Amino acid sequence: MKTNRVLLKLSGEALAGPKKMGFDEDTVKEVARQVKLSIDAGVQVGIVIGGGNFWRGRTSNAIDRTKADQIGMLATVMNCIYVSEIFRNAGMETEIFTPFACGAMTALFSKDKANKGFEEGRVVFFAGGTGHPYFSTDTGIALRAIEMDADCILLAKSIDGVYDSDPKINPDAKRYNTITIQEVIDRQLAVVDLTASIMCMEHRMPMAVFDLNEKDGIANAMQGKINGTMVTV
Ligand code: UDP
Repeated sequence: MKTNRVLLKLSGEALAGPKKMGFDEDTVKEVARQVKLSIDAGVQVGIVIGGGNFWRGRTSNAIDRTKADQIGMLATVMNCIYVSEIFRNAGMETEIFTPFACGAMTALFSKDKANKGFEEGRVVFFAGGTGHPYFSTDTGIALRAIEMDADCILLAKSIDGVYDSDPKINPDAKRYNTITIQEVIDRQLAVVDLTASIMCMEHRMPMAVFDLNEKDGIANAMQGKINGTMVTV
C-alpha cells in the first residue's frame, strides 16, 4: 500500500485513554512519538479526531439536533487544539483547519493551504468535521481524504481489525485480513458509518483498520505495514 500521504483517524474516546472522558496525556504523547517517526521519514500526515470524549450530537434529546451537532463539532476542534499542542511539544510543526471560522484558533480550510502544509512537512489537522450537522468525523475524514488525494485512511481503533461478528460476544469471530468496502456495507460491519463507506467506495479510497494500542502500530501503518484489516476498493 502506498503511504505518501495518509489521513489518520483517532476517536475521541481513544484520546481519553482509560478515563473515557477528556484527555489522557500519555496516550496522546505516544501517538505523537509515532507520528513524528513518520513525519521524519517523509510521510505527509493529516489527522482527524472524533469528539466522543466530550459530546455526541445524539447524546441529548433535550435540545435541537442541529445545535447538539454544533457542540459535537466544537468538541472535535478542542481535541485537535490539544493534540496539535502535544505534537508541537514533541517537535513537530502543525496546522489546524476548520470548515467554519474559529477566529485566531484555527485556519479556514482551503485545499491549497492544506496542500502547502503537507508539502512543508507540517501535520495537518482537519477539525470540525464536515461543518454540517447530521454528519460525523467518519464522513469528515472520507471527504478530506478524497479531496486531498490521500493514498489511504488509517483507522486506529480499540480493536485490531474488522471481524465477521463482535469478538466480545462471539469467541469464534474471525478477523479479515482484507475485505472490500462493498462487503463491509453488505454485511453492515462497523468500520466507518454508511455515508463515509459509500463515499470511500465511490471515490476508491482504501482504509486500514488496526489497534491503536499495538506497539508502533501507527508508525508501521504509516509505512504501509498493517497488522489488522485492509478495506479495499
Ligand atoms: N459532528 C457533526 N458533523 C460533522 C462531524 C461531527 O455534526 O461533520 C458532530 C456530531 O454531533 C458527532 C460529534 O460531532 O456526534 C462528534 O463526532 P464523532 O464523529 O466523534 O461522532 P460519533 O460518530 O462518535 O457520534
